[in-house]
Amino acid sequence: MPSYKAPLDDMRFVLNEVLDVAQLSRIADFSQVDKPTINQFLEEIAKMAENVLFPLNATGDREGCTHDRETKAVKTPTGFKDAYQQFCEAGLTGFACDPKYGGLGMPIVLNTALSEMFCSANLSFGMYPGLSHGAYNALHEYGTDEQKNTYLPKLVSGQWAGTMCLTEPQCGTDLGLIKTKAVKNADGSYAITGTKIFISAGEHDLTENICHLVLAKIEAADTPAGIKGISLFIVPKFLPEGLAHNNVTCGRIEEKMGIHGNSTCEMNFDGAKGWLVGEAHKGMKAMFVMMNEARLGVGLQGLGLSEVAYQNGLNYALERVQSPPIDQKGEHASVTIINHPDVRREILGIKAAVEGERMLAYWISLQLDISQKDPDEAARKKAKAFVDLLTPIVKAHFTDNAVENTNSAIQVFGGHGYIKEHGMEQFNRDARITRLYEGTNGIQGLDLIGRKVLKENLLPGYLRLLMQDLFAAKKNGVSLCLLWPVARRAGTLCRITLKLRVRALFGTLLRRMSFMRDAAGMSTDYYKLMSLVVIGHMWVKMADTATQKLAANPEGGVRDFYETKIKTAHFYMKKVMPQTAAYSGAIGGGTNALMDIPADKFAHTQTTIGA
Ligand SMILES: Cc1cc2nc3c(=O)[nH]c(=O)nc-3n(C[C@H](O)[C@H](O)[C@H](O)COP(=O)(O)OP(=O)(O)OC[C@H]3O[C@@H](n4cnc5c(N)ncnc54)[C@H](O)[C@@H]3O)c2cc1C
Repeated sequence: MPSYKAPLDDMRFVLNEVLDVAQLSRIADFSQVDKPTINQFLEEIAKMAENVLFPLNATGDREGCTHDRETKAVKTPTGFKDAYQQFCEAGLTGFACDPKYGGLGMPIVLNTALSEMFCSANLSFGMYPGLSHGAYNALHEYGTDEQKNTYLPKLVSGQWAGTMCLTEPQCGTDLGLIKTKAVKNADGSYAITGTKIFISAGEHDLTENICHLVLAKIEAADTPAGIKGISLFIVPKFLPEGLAHNNVTCGRIEEKMGIHGNSTCEMNFDGAKGWLVGEAHKGMKAMFVMMNEARLGVGLQGLGLSEVAYQNGLNYALERVQSPPIDQKGEHASVTIINHPDVRREILGIKAAVEGERMLAYWISLQLDISQKDPDEAARKKAKAFVDLLTPIVKAHFTDNAVENTNSAIQVFGGHGYIKEHGMEQFNRDARITRLYEGTNGIQGLDLIGRKVLKENLLPGYLRLLMQDLFAAKKNGVSLCLLWPVARRAGTLCRITLKLRVRALFGTLLRRMSFMRDAAGMSTDYYKLMSLVVIGHMWVKMADTATQKLAANPEGGVRDFYETKIKTAHFYMKKVMPQTAAYSGAIGGGTNALMDIPADKFAHTQTTIGA
């Protein structure tokens, strides 16, 4: 049976020592945030994750959700409902929500730590409140006062849940293809008709009501074609006044590879009553509020799964005795497998990834808090630019890693990792979806290079910060062996980007758009290269703090912690960072190699070749 223990030491290290999150108390809304509060909160959440949610993870996977074709109701796995009640009673559905609507008003960075623990403990469960929080955010930013007063208190208390309804059978990545239509009613509301598929938490038994945020096209002569004609609507399962059943039902739930405890629903809207959120035809803008938060959230799902896989892989490697050490064969008894270099490669690979990701996730979340609440406008703007640039990195890199890390952890278990009883294969199955939803990782790469780097030119601001951090770390005595690989690869990233920007500039002037094709062709290699540099930067930040802490001569476990941190940073620079060479090499290979074969020449044909 797998186990999970929240990594509180590492969380406190990042939150309190590297980031000094208590600094947020300078912002009036966060005056209650201090170190004891943070630590107490972490411990409370850890208890719930370890004792309430984790025990339901394997049973939820086995049991899954069930759909009643007659009543269209969906039942979540045994125990989910009770756990959800406890979750609500602890105020966690409104943890980072506006106190005006009943929320606790805590910073997003602490909510991130909470999400990480819940994703480690039980991803399927965590998705239910996670989606509600996305709906809360979209309504909080774009809803009318009436909508806010109607929906937000119930979403915050957890009595009602939220969903995000974008996908249709013919339309996934390209939302311009949406067919769901909205026809205006005499009372100003809309009748929504269409079928949405793959809707997470679309129907379930955890809450009194479910509020669907639905993308649809208004049937009107002035509705622009494609993506510009999309509007956002709130469509509740039960109408707020009188709670009559709205015309929205769950047609079926999907059988799928993982996250069995979370219902994935086909939702049928048959003239369901809905209300416009934000302006007509500006639905994508409002939906992006939800999607950006959801992308960070999916990144955290990846981090959470990598962490739990790491813990179990490590425990196994510390216990499993197999083979003598490679240099002492014949003279030595078999040892625990953690002693074999290749097992260490797997274990340290996960450890270095997870700790680097945690640092990035918490740092970005802190930037998100600053971008929303700092009284200084310049600070808000700067922080927002970091968040915008790095959101696709968090989504894509963490989730690519989650699939790889959960796979590595299976490898550590040998054949036992393939056997259900050990629980390792569930982590891998659950991880696979994270590369797909909230915009596939390919789309994250396009967003990064096309929008964030080429259009908005956000990279230089980030690289300036990276260089400042490298200089500060050098001053504090951090080894050059940790600084040089980051500086060098940041230079490679800068060179590649500059070249592309120059091509983009001339291409735009001369109306030759082939640079777009090249940017698209390199986008995945680009985000992978940049991710390694960014995580390298995070390792420098952590090594800097650990070096300073060691200078004060701590003893025992605390000393071990900082020393291990610095050694892990060395592992990252020596064994992970070199992967950047492969990505920069592939980028240098250009796009023609991808596009030269005509689409109709891929399939096997019946020729006489080799006859
Ligand atoms: C379990 C599960 C839960 C989900 N939850 C939700 C939910 O709650 N709400 C919701 O609305 N949707 C949800 N989805 C849908 C999910 O977001 C989509 O599946 C995803 O966005 C991809 O769309 P698609 O499956 O139609 O793939 P397609 O868009 O058909 O893409 C197929 C492939 O082509 C690639 N591709 C497409 N266009 C481009 C391009 N321009 N450039 C490069 N590559 C491209 C994609 O990267 C992908 O690899 C869920 C899906 C699943 C499986």
